[in-house]
Amino acid sequence: MNKTQPVLNTRGVVLRTTDVGERDRMLTVLTAEHGKISVFARGVRKITSGALPACQLFAYADFTLRRASQYCFLNEATIRETFLGISSTIEGAALASYLCEAADELTYEGGDSAQMLQLLLNTLWTISAGTRPLFLVKGAFELRAAAISGYQPDLGGCAACGCETDPAGDRFLLDVMNGRLICGECYDTLYRVHLDIAAAHLPPNVPLCDEHGQQILFRRLNTSALRAMQYVLYTDPKRQFSFSVEGEGILLFRDACETYLLHHVGHGYKTLSFYKSLETL
Ligand SMILES: [Zn+2]
Repeated sequence: MNKTQPVLNTRGVVLRTTDVGERDRMLTVLTAEHGKISVFARGVRKITSGALPACQLFAYADFTLRRASQYCFLNEATIRETFLGISSTIEGAALASYLCEAADELTYEGGDSAQMLQLLLNTLWTISAGTRPLFLVKGAFELRAAAISGYQPDLGGCAACGCETDPAGDRFLLDVMNGRLICGECYDTLYRVHLDIAAAHLPPNVPLCDEHGQQILFRRLNTSALRAMQYVLYTDPKRQFSFSVEGEGILLFRDACETYLLHHVGHGYKTLSFYKSLETL
């Protein structure tokens, strides 16, 4: 052991694990103060290792680390919460895996990740407790995580005319790439004819783009879906999942939140594809 390496005491969630050799494991740990930390846990998979419970995926634990140039070495780890209920269903475990992968990608080393860590802890606790529908937990995480990461949409009213209630009825559209709402009436006036003509001249699966090359992407909402999304963005994070979505709003909310996160990240996730293959409402 190099006694000159500084010791770091921190607390965080294990986002990712990779076994190395027969006894070692690499961890990615999300902390509030230090962002994401890569940890080499030497010998942690030995039967006699007391740190193993704290070095499992989803574990929330206190870590004592020694800082090195590329990553930290694990000295000690004490489990605080294992979220055991997550693994009681394959759907819960699949969803938690996807959300940890997304959190991994949306955070970086050395940054302030307090908000993302709090969101992730609330999410893992809720999946583990099984108190809320998984589609609702998933959508709330996706939208809130995007907002925390700098992609906060403005869902206060139509970005074109400023209306807060849709004059065309129960219909607002989410302008995904610009992070704003367009009411149905403004959509018909400003976009619909243009998009219909453009779509008619494009091969299938080719995205519509504006003159700057940015994809033009709208998702239809209804009152229930929009209210749910506004709740997710503007409520106290401690009450992140205390809302409901009704009827068709479930599908619209689910589609809008997922599309919003994936198009700002710029790709999909294998863990998401697996979760969706299991998903039931
Ligand atoms: Zn409008």
